[in-house]
Amino acid sequence: MNLVHLLLRHARLTPHRPALFHGTAPFATYGQWAARSAALARHLRAAGLQPGDRVLLFMRNHPRYLEVLCAAWWAGLVVVPVNAKLHPREVEWIVENAQARWGFTTSDVAPDLLAGLERQIDIESTAADALLEPAPEPDAMDTTDRGPDDVAWLFYTSGTTGRPKGVMLTHRNLMTMGLTYFVDVDPVAAQDAIVYAAPMSHGAGLYAIPHLMAGARHVVPASGGVEPAELFALGWQMGALSTFAAPTIVKRLVEHAEAARIPVADCARAFKTIVYGGAPMYVADIQRALQAMGPRFVQIYGQGETPMVATALSRSMLADSGHPRYLERIASVGMAQTPVRVRVADGQGNSLPAGETGEVLVQGDSVMAGYWSNPEATAAALRGGWLWTGDVGSLDAEGFLTLKDRSKDLIISGGSNIYPREVEEVLLTAPGVAEVAVVGAPDPEWGEIVVAFVVAHDGTPLVHAELDRHCLAQMARFKRPKRYITVGALPRNNYGKVLKTVLRQQI
Ligand code: AMP
Repeated sequence: MNLVHLLLRHARLTPHRPALFHGTAPFATYGQWAARSAALARHLRAAGLQPGDRVLLFMRNHPRYLEVLCAAWWAGLVVVPVNAKLHPREVEWIVENAQARWGFTTSDVAPDLLAGLERQIDIESTAADALLEPAPEPDAMDTTDRGPDDVAWLFYTSGTTGRPKGVMLTHRNLMTMGLTYFVDVDPVAAQDAIVYAAPMSHGAGLYAIPHLMAGARHVVPASGGVEPAELFALGWQMGALSTFAAPTIVKRLVEHAEAARIPVADCARAFKTIVYGGAPMYVADIQRALQAMGPRFVQIYGQGETPMVATALSRSMLADSGHPRYLERIASVGMAQTPVRVRVADGQGNSLPAGETGEVLVQGDSVMAGYWSNPEATAAALRGGWLWTGDVGSLDAEGFLTLKDRSKDLIISGGSNIYPREVEEVLLTAPGVAEVAVVGAPDPEWGEIVVAFVVAHDGTPLVHAELDRHCLAQMARFKRPKRYITVGALPRNNYGKVLKTVLRQQI
């Protein structure tokens, strides 16, 4: 089993089919993509890189990303994709931890040689062109054999606290993730196209795999990032796009659709499917998104340790607003995806009954092999044949999972458990509130008190007493924030997750 065979199938069958695009400009057909990856694989081998060696991908989104990725797999190597927004010093730590040998970069993110690499190649340089130049005689399709348990992708966790850990994702993990997409997320046809707006080093890039399986088109916006106007225009020109977006990106697309008064029918011409996940999507926000852009959303919940695969909330469930439990359903992250079992357990691993809150555990072929060079962390996360996600939630009788918070974000005030997410959901429905994050602050009397950081809609002054009245009308007294702090923006990491540790430090 080697994931690169997904590319070879299409290169052999339909070599002239367009595969990679930079903006609307064709970048490679399936045949050219395979020939370039084969050429680079030959150079990697000739330089002495051995199967299992690590290769760093530290670049902004670019179609060449996928050519390098497949070249590395071709030669049996492990890719280490790293977010382009990390500081080179942070990346050097990852290079050292992963013992990466070669690195592929774009000059805008890594101008100097990263310490520890044997060789660093700017993918837009003439040196890269030479390495990816197909041989005059077509390269033999001599891919390196890999077993299903061999590592394909070393996925550094986004690390909202502490140093990122290298999650070992095998060929089997990623094959499972890819196949599951068709069953639990969205069917894909060869004429479909995926657009990479969010960083390819994370979930967005993993979704290259199902689109490679389907022989679809892969589009990288010319800007390499998230520009709503550009994405809509790309969709109108290329045909409705699929994409993966964190809730913050969804919000920007929705705001653009509203501000530019784009009718739902035109949203449908721009986007086939928007898969969201990676951070909480509040009920008020998904309702607004469905209203503005129509039924083109699917939610997934996963984590680096079981990439993109734990639960999913389907397009039809999100659209079924007449269902008696609709609001509960859209507040949930959906049901276990096909290849995994999901349960909620107490600290000893005993399953809890429906409605009770505990840690979310996942088991199945998408679950990582372990953390790279970190047996202690592996032993803590993989226990009794299950992945302990560190997320807290509850299952209902039908199997819908509702996430509360990361266990470390739970607030205990006067002996009662308060889940910030509940308070956030309520505050987001208060007039004038654009964004909110709730954390616990130490308090001599209560142990902890609830503190809400609120961001106002443009120019709206937020009166804290009014927010308090709004909360009192909708939730138990003890859960309501004792303190409000109005801020211009919430601190987020590169993937759009709110950094609650930073907020706690601010208090
Ligand atoms: P990462 O490993 O960086 O992908 O982060 C995974 C974490 O993001 C999970 O453990 C959850 O805490 C959170 N997460 C992922 N998907 C969702 C979702 N759909 N809703 C809420 N939180 C999510």
